[in-house]
Amino acid sequence: TPVTVIGGFAETLLGLELDEASRREYLGMILKQSQTMQRLVDDLLTLSSLENSAGTDTEQSVDIRPLVEALVGEARALSQDRHTIEIRFQSRPSVLASAPEIESAIRNLLTNAVRYTPAGGRITVDWRERDGDGELTVRDTGIGIAAEHLPRLTERFYRVDRGRSRDTGGTGLGLAIVKHIMNRHGGRLLIDSELGAGSSFTLRFPARR
Ligand code: ADP
Repeated sequence: TPVTVIGGFAETLLGLELDEASRREYLGMILKQSQTMQRLVDDLLTLSSLENSAGTDTEQSVDIRPLVEALVGEARALSQDRHTIEIRFQSRPSVLASAPEIESAIRNLLTNAVRYTPAGGRITVDWRERDGDGELTVRDTGIGIAAEHLPRLTERFYRVDRGRSRDTGGTGLGLAIVKHIMNRHGGRLLIDSELGAGSSFTLRFPARR
């Protein structure tokens, strides 16, 4: 866990005479691990508040388009121009939902799309209406996921590739949070992916919303 690594490096810094370059290297690793720890604590708190917040208002009218525009802005900053990120909406949807929860769900999907798509890839966010249901899809041309992993992706701490996920600063809790949020809205998270070709993650909202 990050704490073990932070403790280990702190011990090394205290116990050894190090030159400036090594000292900075160790401090950099402590900083990186403390940021991962921060994300882990934030994600665990989010999950626990989702489980305890029966009283949260999931009936606000949420204007999806400006929300997605703001989140795509964040995703572009994270991508630092390594990806093309586009919004393709044919309408201006509004959904009855908890605004902060929907924001958190879409942010999780966009962050993953950036993290699991090599430079030069394309990410699109689109909205469709199908049999009255509304579907928001985040699609990427990234590394994709082999079929055998798909059923387990939304389990807490489940990761396809531990090393890679750790390098990208993930917590293994993102998709568990997204699934929880969709369940609370009577909706679903649909995942489709092909190894090496890319993935699509769809938030499906029932017609009532
Ligand atoms: P993490 O913090 O590890 O990214 P998530 O719950 O968000 O945790 O995702 C679980 C796992 O699903 C990831 O470790 C990764 O293996 C896989 N994954 C998620 N999103 C994508 C994506 N867009 N492309 C490829 N793999 C993905």
